[in-house]
Amino acid sequence: KATILEVKNLTKVFTVGSWIFRTKIVAVDDISFSLRNAEIFTLAGESGCGKTTTARMILGFEEPTSGDIVFEGVSIHEWKKKRKEFMKKVQAVFQNPFEGFNPLLSIDDIFFETVRNYALASTNDEARRLIDEKLKLVGLRFEDINGRYSSELSGGQLQRALIARALLSNPSLLIADEPVSMVDASLRMSIVNLFAQLRDQLGVSVIYITHDLATAYYVSDRIAIMFRGDIVEMGSVERVLTDPKHPYTRLLRESIPEPDPEKKWKEEITIADTEYEEYLRKGCKFAGRCPEVMSICREEKPPEIMVGDSMVRCHLYKK
Ligand code: SF4
Repeated sequence: KATILEVKNLTKVFTVGSWIFRTKIVAVDDISFSLRNAEIFTLAGESGCGKTTTARMILGFEEPTSGDIVFEGVSIHEWKKKRKEFMKKVQAVFQNPFEGFNPLLSIDDIFFETVRNYALASTNDEARRLIDEKLKLVGLRFEDINGRYSSELSGGQLQRALIARALLSNPSLLIADEPVSMVDASLRMSIVNLFAQLRDQLGVSVIYITHDLATAYYVSDRIAIMFRGDIVEMGSVERVLTDPKHPYTRLLRESIPEPDPEKKWKEEITIADTEYEEYLRKGCKFAGRCPEVMSICREEKPPEIMVGDSMVRCHLYKK
């Protein structure tokens, strides 16, 4: 399969605080990965690990501090000059379906507006056919949105409608940032499965961002586990989640004994900020909590090491 997206040494540093006390937060720390056509790639990790910042940089909402993002062979810096064309090809679905549509407009109006905005149809009938086609893909009908406002639909219906709207412009990449975390638990799997259907039927690639390893396990082809701005492990979802190598992935995996969409991680795995600062400068960021920490872990940042066809950032695998 051809590569659709390459993320190369991407870094994002935020400066926070007032002029008296300014501090830098490395939200994304020199990460690289690529995404193939018709592939679902998951970025997983707890909040603050850098997964959403990565998505925002890909979408062009955030400027990288360094590194590059290449989409369909063209750098994000070039795409900036063709923003509308880029947004046709790369669409996003966000966490809160209740904020996805303007509450003052009916949803069918919003769909027609999107069709007009991207010049996707030349007549009203053509627009209607296009809208029908995309709604059908997500299990909705035109009657479900016709003259209805976002307050009249359930969270699950709204999220489906948002996915249908994202599909109107035939994007080649969908970025889904925690798309089911605010949807009723009983509906989560059906919505997550939609992404797999869309991959298979339309050949669309998906970056799925989640803190929920169970849904990630069901839907992804490959997965990257992020911790404090680093990708600490990356490979096929089967390998990473059934035979995790990195101690952090193991801890996460242990907290969901069986992949189950109802279960979340048992406990938040956090590191005190002071500890983090200490290891940020040198050594492994996970050393403060790692059950297998060695003296080298506090001195040297672990490099990316290939184990089979997966990547692990951990000194345990040094050859
Ligand atoms: Fe643990 Fe050391 Fe590996 Fe970091 S490098 S995860 S501290 S064993």
